[in-house]
Amino acid sequence: MGKVHLTGAGPGDIELLTIKALRVIKEADVIIYDRLANPDILQEAKNGCEFVYVGKEDGRHIVPQDDINEVIYQNALKHENVVRLKGGDPFVFGRGGEEALYLRDRGISFDVIPGITSAISAPAYAGIPVTHRGVSVSFRVVTGHESPNKKESQIPWETFKTDDTIVFLMGLHNLPKISKKLMEIGKPKNYPCAVISKGTTKEQSVVVGTLEDIVAKTKDVPTPALIVVGRVVELREQLQWFEGNE
Ligand code: SAH
Repeated sequence: MGKVHLTGAGPGDIELLTIKALRVIKEADVIIYDRLANPDILQEAKNGCEFVYVGKEDGRHIVPQDDINEVIYQNALKHENVVRLKGGDPFVFGRGGEEALYLRDRGISFDVIPGITSAISAPAYAGIPVTHRGVSVSFRVVTGHESPNKKESQIPWETFKTDDTIVFLMGLHNLPKISKKLMEIGKPKNYPCAVISKGTTKEQSVVVGTLEDIVAKTKDVPTPALIVVGRVVELREQLQWFEGNE
């Protein structure tokens, strides 16, 4: 029986891979990877390494999670070094925890190699620090997949009244509802927010707006994209460094 490395691929820029992730990728017999993991990373694998694509679309899973769990397990029965490569960090909305539990229940050993999550790195490449002295003392990373209109929502919308930064992942299709909900709980219409698409890659694009106009401004934004809500967005005006310089 082999060992599974639940490995974070980072957000897109291949150089944001950790040294540890690169080592297990070079040693891998099989790499099971997602749509969000930059496929250029696979070039680092040794000759004869097998590649298994289990890509998922935002919110719409092409390969059901149960099947992915089983694919990882079956590969661990066949191979010594299995890399499960996931975009960003495996435990930040990556369902890495579920995969780890599935393996644990079947006696397969695993480790977790954290990755740089898009939740902080895409804002960083957009010139938006997720915390900033005097502006935001914390940041939250929230699923945007759940509709804000859902009854018995697990998301504590009422607590989003403060100026702490909120990063919504998987939220582009719900942006009209999210921005409306934030205004309903009392955030001003002109409250700053940004949508960052394909963060940290050469195709990165950033749209800055307000809760009131962000939807109209982001009609054709390609995915993956995340939403940053907070006064920290205003710092981009001075801190933008990446686009045009890459
Ligand atoms: N584990 C990943 C997140 C998986 S959820 C991580 O830590 O980054 C998938 C969501 O992440 C997407 O819907 C999008 O909101 C966000 N995302 C991932 N990569 C991104 C990128 N390069 N730029 C912007 N958003 C990204």
